[in-house]
Amino acid sequence: MDVDDPSPRVDGGGVDPPRIRRLEESVVNRIAAGEVIQRPSSAVKELVENSLDAGASTVSVTVKDGGLKLIQVSDDGHGIRFEDLPILCERHTTSKLSAYEDLQTIKSMGFRGEALASMTYVGHVTVTTITEGQLHGYRVSYKDGVMENEPKPCAAVKGTQVMVENLFYNMVARRKTLQNSNDDYPKIVDFISRFAVHHINVSFSCRKHGASRADVHSASTSSRLDAIRNVYGASVVRDLVEIEVSDEDAGDAVFKMGGYISNANYVAKKITMILFINDRLVDCTALKRAIEFVYAATLPQASKPFIYMSINLPSEHVDVNIHPTKKEVSLLNQERIIEIIKNAIEEKLRSSNTTRIFQTQAINSSALMPANTQKEKGTEVKMSSGMKSQKTPVSQIVRTDPRNPSGRLHSYWHGQSSNLEMKCDLVSVRNVVRSRRNPKDAGVPLFFYPDLLSTAAGLLEVVKNCTYVGLADDVFALIQHNTHLYLVNIVNVSKELMYQQALCRFGNFNAIQLSEPAPLLDLLLMALKDDELVCDENDEEKLEIAKVNSEILKDNAEMINEYFSIHVDQDGNLIRLPVVLDQYTPDMDRLPEFVLTMGNDVTWDDEKECFRTAAAAIGNFYALHPPILPNPSGSGIQLYKKNKDCMTGGEHVDRTDEDDIDQELLAEAETAWSQREWTIQHVLFPSMQLFLKPPKSMATDGTFVQVASLEKLYKIFERC
Ligand code: ADP
Ligand code: MG
Repeated sequence: MDVDDPSPRVDGGGVDPPRIRRLEESVVNRIAAGEVIQRPSSAVKELVENSLDAGASTVSVTVKDGGLKLIQVSDDGHGIRFEDLPILCERHTTSKLSAYEDLQTIKSMGFRGEALASMTYVGHVTVTTITEGQLHGYRVSYKDGVMENEPKPCAAVKGTQVMVENLFYNMVARRKTLQNSNDDYPKIVDFISRFAVHHINVSFSCRKHGASRADVHSASTSSRLDAIRNVYGASVVRDLVEIEVSDEDAGDAVFKMGGYISNANYVAKKITMILFINDRLVDCTALKRAIEFVYAATLPQASKPFIYMSINLPSEHVDVNIHPTKKEVSLLNQERIIEIIKNAIEEKLRSSNTTRIFQTQAINSSALMPANTQKEKGTEVKMSSGMKSQKTPVSQIVRTDPRNPSGRLHSYWHGQSSNLEMKCDLVSVRNVVRSRRNPKDAGVPLFFYPDLLSTAAGLLEVVKNCTYVGLADDVFALIQHNTHLYLVNIVNVSKELMYQQALCRFGNFNAIQLSEPAPLLDLLLMALKDDELVCDENDEEKLEIAKVNSEILKDNAEMINEYFSIHVDQDGNLIRLPVVLDQYTPDMDRLPEFVLTMGNDVTWDDEKECFRTAAAAIGNFYALHPPILPNPSGSGIQLYKKNKDCMTGGEHVDRTDEDDIDQELLAEAETAWSQREWTIQHVLFPSMQLFLKPPKSMATDGTFVQVASLEKLYKIFERC
């Protein structure tokens, strides 16, 4: 066959399929190069990283036409050996990696030997370099990976200069889109700014070709804050707090994070996230999202933070090869690391908030000063935090801004229960659990004014613009909307939210994979054992009921998998559950009950009813019920006594003997309750504000109840 003949042959009436041909190598290389060097800014990043790898202490960047005409990066690093110049720009030539195993431990920034080569396929590359002790340097140009001429001796200053001209000259479409899209120069400036914040011992400059002034100019310094101030300005630095966290004792994943994050006073339109992992400038979308989430939940007004973060991990724990430009990385134990960082940030924000409250109080007290002193100082007081405060009538010195998180109950509760120690065995605990499982028992507060919530629109307004204050008890949380306080039934709200989400995401769920397949039959039997309604039936009957339900679910497996991502395999094992709310997993103690409800309560023969009933079952399962172990705080700790008599006899036990407490159970309960509290504040409330469409009935069924108006309360205090 003639491999070079590209034309389809016409034989009689039929047309032969076009022949598959091998692309010319240079075309392949050009395509691959386009992957690595996607835009001028990615070329700049690669070149600067090479300079840093070469130990440079000065790196200068010059750019013309957003990098399309010219990119020039000069450094004072160790230079390139004359003998290496011929293969410098071949693909997969690198001084940083010699065997596959090195990939695991390599510490430098680029190491696949692709960057320079790629540039020669999509642009004209000229390198000038000199190594230590040489009298003169060399200059050489490259095309398609090879030298265009022998290296020419030339005068040179210490280090290397790489010049890339006419980037994408041979990729018409790419060049056009780049020309039409915004100039890449701001991106380049952004990259250099980030490098300058991290590599504080290196001095960077970045300018447009022909411009006398550099747009970034950083001098080597010993202070990170100086570096940030230099690039991002003093106003940013003023609102930063230092953060540090590590987990050295965990053994398998030693990681360290250090950096600066903005506090409540930093307000910006966009998040700035400068992330270095093992000294490489990278993106880690999962981490960025998690941080945004913490800020949105903790400081909604300052929800677009400035973050500089440097993470160090054993290099074998970072996979930089998931992305062609090494921009996005994935980490071993990523979820755990993110969780630790999230918690550290949250704690920091909370403590820096306290500082802010203190400042505000100091200023507010000046509002009480005699009028003449006020006058002298002017009626407007500039707070040290940078906020302006008008002279305020005393009656309004309450937290009226619903988005101001200061004053949440949470902070007052810290450590309240942690020192208490108690016990009781699981059977007695379970008895108490039964009563707590039913949220109706929680009781509606005595004083309420339902009128204010009576319209669906009014209720939606409250939901959208409220602030979380704290938990009032196991079932109710307090929220503030303007100057009104409301009690919200967490169970009802979460059930409705999950129900609505289940319907919204219908046919489109992500999945939670169970760590082990769970046999439906076992789950159903467990549920039946717990179910009071069927507790009279004997074991054989229970087994029958379980079998029937298991069959029903197996028969409908395909449908529930497709619609709700509830995956049941052919052997009747539950394999996957849907993600109803991101970052949220339901309480698996309730899985048996859920499976039983799916079998018992879902209407299978009417499609619409089927969706509704299945979504209701999901809503109930994913709702934030109180954990199965009773709340150990306050007198609840009595339930964790090993001595059962304290439960059944009804005698009052005043003193709690430490030895008498089931520590393990207590610890488990404390974790479950504090996790729930965290989830309510950081997952349920933000999601509720975003997604919940509260049905009107919630205004009257005790789900939302107004308990106080702060102005009225103030009036009462005034009279006292
Ligand atoms: P990689 O950085 O993955 O090794 P590159 O294509 O970016 O691949 O660079 C190839 C090699 O060229 C590097 O390994 C390094 O030895 C050398 N090199 C590139 N730029 C410089 C520089 N500015 N100074 C010194 N050596 C350099
Ligand atoms: Mg490189």
